[in-house]
Amino acid sequence: MTTTTSGRSTARPGPVALFISDLHLQSDMPHTAAAFLHFLNRHAIHARQLYLLGDIFEYWAGDDDITEPFLHSVTMALRAVSDAGVELFWMAGNRDFLVGPGFAHATGATLLPDPTVLTHAGQRYLLSHGDQLCTDDVAYQQFRNMVRQPDWQAAFLARELRERKQIIAQMRQQSRQHQQQTSMITDVNQNAVEYFFQHWRTQILIHGHTHRPAMHQEGNTLRYVLSDWDLDHKPVRGDWLALLADGTLQRYNHMGVPA
Ligand code: MN
Repeated sequence: MTTTTSGRSTARPGPVALFISDLHLQSDMPHTAAAFLHFLNRHAIHARQLYLLGDIFEYWAGDDDITEPFLHSVTMALRAVSDAGVELFWMAGNRDFLVGPGFAHATGATLLPDPTVLTHAGQRYLLSHGDQLCTDDVAYQQFRNMVRQPDWQAAFLARELRERKQIIAQMRQQSRQHQQQTSMITDVNQNAVEYFFQHWRTQILIHGHTHRPAMHQEGNTLRYVLSDWDLDHKPVRGDWLALLADGTLQRYNHMGVPA
C-alpha cells in the first residue's frame, strides 16, 4: 500500500505528517494518556497527516470494547483531530492488532497494512511498526503469524469480550515474564532491515516497537526508530517525528521540543 501527502488537506500550516508509536495507552498510566491528548490537541491538530504506527494501546480486545470509558476518551480525542481536518492513519502493533473497522469508523482513521510506503516530494518513506523485523525472536514470529491470520482473529473475536480480556491478561503476564528473563525487547535483525529497504525500494524507514529511539545511518539508508512513551515512571520518555515540506524529518520530545 502507498499513501501520499498530497491528499485532501494540503493547505494546512503545520508539518506534512507526524509519526508516533508505542504509547501503550492504558487507564493506569494517566500521565502518559494526558501527554498523548496534549500531543493531539497542541501538535497533531496542525499537521496534514498523523500516522499512528502501532502499540498506541497496551492492548485491544476488539472494537466492541470501544465504549469502555478510557478507550472511549482516547478514540474521541482522535475523532476530534480527524474532524479538524487531519488525515489520520493507523497501523497495528503487536499489542493492538485487533483494531478493526469499528475503530476506523469511530475515529475517522484509515487502517494501513504493515509496511506502507508514504510518498512525499519524490521521496519514498517506508512506515512499519517494526516487530516483523525482529526475526531473531523466532517464538514471537510464530505467535505473530498465528494471530495475524483472519481465521484466528475471527475465532478469537467470536468469544465473549470478558473472556477475551481474561486471555489477553494471561498473555500480558507471560510477556512480562519473558521480558524479565530476556531483559529487553529483541532488536531488529540487520538482514531483515536490508531486505525491507531493497524489497520496498526505499532509503528511509520509520518504525517503533524496539523502544530504542535512534537514527541509524547505514550506507545510503536512514532508519528512524521512535521511542516508547512513559510519563508515569522515571525516566519519563516519548517522542514523535515530523515530516517537513522539504522532505526532512525532525524529532520532537514529548514536550514538543526539537530533540
Ligand atoms: Mn510493539
